[in-house]
Order: sequence, then C-alpha cells, then structure tokens
Amino acid sequence: MDKIVNIVGGGLAGCEAAYFLAEKGFSVKLYEMRPQVQTPAHETEFLGELVCSNSLKSTLPDTSSGLLKAEIEILGSVVLKVAEQCKVPAGNALAVDRTDFAKGMDDIIRNHPNIEVIGEELTDIPADRPCIIATGPLTSDKMAESIKRRFGGGLYFFDAIAPVISFDSVDMEKAFFKSRWEKGDDDYLNLGMNKEEYELFYNELIGSDQVEFKDFEKLNVYEGCMPIEVMAKRGPQTLTFGPFRPVGLRHPVTEQKYYAVIQLRKENKEGTAYNLVGCQTKMKIGEQQRVFRLVPGLENAEFLRYGSIHRNTYIHSPGNLKRTFQVIGDEKLYFAGQITGVEGYLESAASGLLAAYSLVNPEFDGFHEETALGALARHVSGEVAENKKEFVPSNFHFGMVPGHGKKIRDKKLKKRMYAERALSHYK
Ligand SMILES: Cc1cc2nc3c(=O)[nH]c(=O)nc-3n(C[C@H](O)[C@H](O)[C@H](O)COP(=O)(O)OP(=O)(O)OC[C@H]3O[C@@H](n4cnc5c(N)ncnc54)[C@H](O)[C@@H]3O)c2cc1C
Repeated sequence: MDKIVNIVGGGLAGCEAAYFLAEKGFSVKLYEMRPQVQTPAHETEFLGELVCSNSLKSTLPDTSSGLLKAEIEILGSVVLKVAEQCKVPAGNALAVDRTDFAKGMDDIIRNHPNIEVIGEELTDIPADRPCIIATGPLTSDKMAESIKRRFGGGLYFFDAIAPVISFDSVDMEKAFFKSRWEKGDDDYLNLGMNKEEYELFYNELIGSDQVEFKDFEKLNVYEGCMPIEVMAKRGPQTLTFGPFRPVGLRHPVTEQKYYAVIQLRKENKEGTAYNLVGCQTKMKIGEQQRVFRLVPGLENAEFLRYGSIHRNTYIHSPGNLKRTFQVIGDEKLYFAGQITGVEGYLESAASGLLAAYSLVNPEFDGFHEETALGALARHVSGEVAENKKEFVPSNFHFGMVPGHGKKIRDKKLKKRMYAERALSHYK
C-alpha cells in the first residue's frame, strides 16, 4: 500500500481527507497556498476556513443536512469534531464561531504527527501518486489551467443556481405538465400567472432583499445564468418575453392562456425534485421563500436547495470521476470538495472523507444509493444527474435518493423514513 499521500488544498475537503488518512497511519503532505497566495474570499491564513456563513445547517435527524452530518460523523469527520468544540447557539442548526473554527481546524491538522503542511501554491497536478486535488471553487488560476488541460477543457465556471423544490409540495390543482408547443413528452411542470399575479410577483422580486455581490463576482456574471432579479430590473416584460414567456403553454384541459408561465424541470430521474427554470437568484433565503411562494401553485413550496450565485470552478465530473472520486484512467488521482460538483461546506467535507475512504479501501465501490454519501457520490459520477451535459453543482437533498415507492403525504415522516433507511446501511 502507498503510505505517502499528497493533498493539494487545505480547505474543508482537504483537511477531512488529510485527517482521515493520518489517523489510518498514512503520511500526508498537505499543500496550502494561503497566506502566500490568497483567494478572493478567504480572509485568514488558517486551514479549513469557512468563507461565508458560519452555519453548518440543521442537526435535526430528519433533514438532509442532519442525515449528512450523522453519516460523516460515523466516518470520523474532523469538521464536525471541531465544530462541536466551538459551536454557538443557533436553534436546531450547528453554527460555529468562524475564527475559533478555523483556528481549531488549523491546530488539529498542523499538529497531527502524520501530517506535514507545506505552504506552497501548486501550479500543476503533481506527478506523485496517490494524490487528492481539493483546491475548491476558488482554485488558483494556474492550477485551474492545469486541470483544464487534463480534462480537455472540461473545466466549468458557473455563476448562479436556481432553487430546487420538492414535487410533493407543488399544488397540482394549479400546475400542469406540458412542453412548449407540445414539443417533447410533457417534461415540464408549468405554473401560469395572470397579469395581476405576475405584477405582484414582479414588484416583490425587484424590491427583494439580496445578498451583496463581492467585487470579484461582479466580473463574472454570465448572460446565460443571470440572476432573475437582475434580469427583471431591465423592465417588467424582460421575464415575460424571456424565461417566463407564456407562448405555446395554454392549459391542456381548460385552454386557458396566461400572462406569464414559470416552468419547472425535473432535477432527478424519480421526479421528486424540480428546478425553477431561469430563476437563478441571489435573493436572501427568507426572500426566496416569500417571493417564489407568491406564484400560484407554489404557496407551500418546500425548498430542497436554495438559489445562489458565486464564482465556482468545477470539473465536469460525470465521465471523468468514479463514484469513489477516483479519476477514470488514473485511479491513484482523486478529486474532492466543491471542485467535483458538490455544493456546500458539509458536502465538501463529506467528499474529502469519501476520497480518503476510497484510497484506504481499494475494493470500495461506493456507499449505498439510499445513503447521503452514496447519493452525493452518484451525483458526482453522473448517475443521478438527469442530463449529464447539464451537470451543475448540488448540495445533498432527499430528491437524490430513490423514493419510497409509495406516496407519503406526511413530509416529516417521509424524511424521517429516508434518514432511518440511510442509517440502516451503516449497521
Ligand atoms: C464566496 C463563496 C461563499 C460560499 N458560501 C458558502 C456558505 O455560506 N455555505 C456553504 O455551505 N457553502 C458555501 N460556499 C461553497 C463551499 O461550501 C465552500 O466554498 C467550501 O469551502 C468548499 O470546500 P473545499 O474544500 O472544496 O474548498 P475550500 O474550502 O475553498 O478549500 C480549498 C483550499 O485550496 C487552496 N488552494 C487553491 N488553489 C491552490 C493551489 N493551486 N495550491 C495550493 N492550495 C490551493 C485554497 O487556498 C483553499 O484553502 C461558498 C463558496 C464561495 C466561493
């Protein structure tokens, strides 16, 4: 077995992988470019810094983030260990003192006898194997170029994401399946609005409270995935002639015409999760709930993923990575963290653990698809993405795991059952 492992990037994924491997007796060389080279979002020299919010989300066992926490705890997550030591009161969420957290991570990693931290920017994927690349969404430019060369240009920059909601929470008395001009298999779920309903939505949208842009993000807003509120500010008709255009979308039974139509696209094969097409947004979370729930049919929308926007460098993992986070054709090279197309602190940490777990267990073929870790890995390898060409980063949500095979109306019960089922695979 190779006993020396190189890890590039000392963020959440890199630290998780380093700690896991070090605890298993491997010698880890961890390369971290900060503070010599800073990213546009990190503020300290500490390893494992949280770049934005201080929340690691809900701890409730019947939530997707609660389940993910329970699973990574079983694998010995160092992120959770440190978070517990510096948590601050936040109801059912695990929130931390950001500075204490980063100092705690830095301390535990740098003082581990099996980890050597090397303060250096790597500009190329190292030739040494095994190696884990965990350079994150703000991978340095030169390394990004090297990764791009390696994957034949398959490196993606993505700015904005739209919310994903649970199918069960859509009012099907108001929604209808139809493809524009009947082209296709009625793949879209449509929500029509009359003029009055649209104007209410529009006014609340443009007046909504939004997360401030950081300077570096201003550089990078692509026309193709512009936040909906930015587009709407160009004029009330920009949306009704753009993503909300109603043409070709009369109601199939009543023949009713609409002033505007929001289309929802399936996010997973099971059809339990739907993406609000064209609704990528930078509204604050509470505002996303308030504004989108004004759309008839979405009054009780349950958000599986919220919209967000930031610079994000990630590889087109489907076709390039296995569900063990190994590079296809170069199996001692692993990728981990947000660069693989997972989204969020916990998910990044989880993928670091997964890569390290695979490295230690060469026979490992991935966790069960009903677990959060199995589902995340399958998202990355393209097995749950509806369309591999449209691979976009995602946090873990229950829409990624197979359904129960029957409709369960009680949402809390349904989630509890998902969580119990997932955890049963670790017994
Ligand atoms: C602006 C922004 C805000 C975010 N806010 C949130 C949030 O509030 N909540 C949430 O859940 N998720 C958030 N995310 C998403 C994601 O969870 C975090 O980015 C998370 O830190 C990703 O973990 P990671 O380990 O993949 O990358 P990182 O934690 O970024 O770690 C990567 C490390 O690699 C280092 N590095 C980069 N290139 C090199 C190189 N060439 N050589 C050596 N070292 C290198 C970096 O300095 C960094 O320390 C945010 C992302 C961004 C960009």
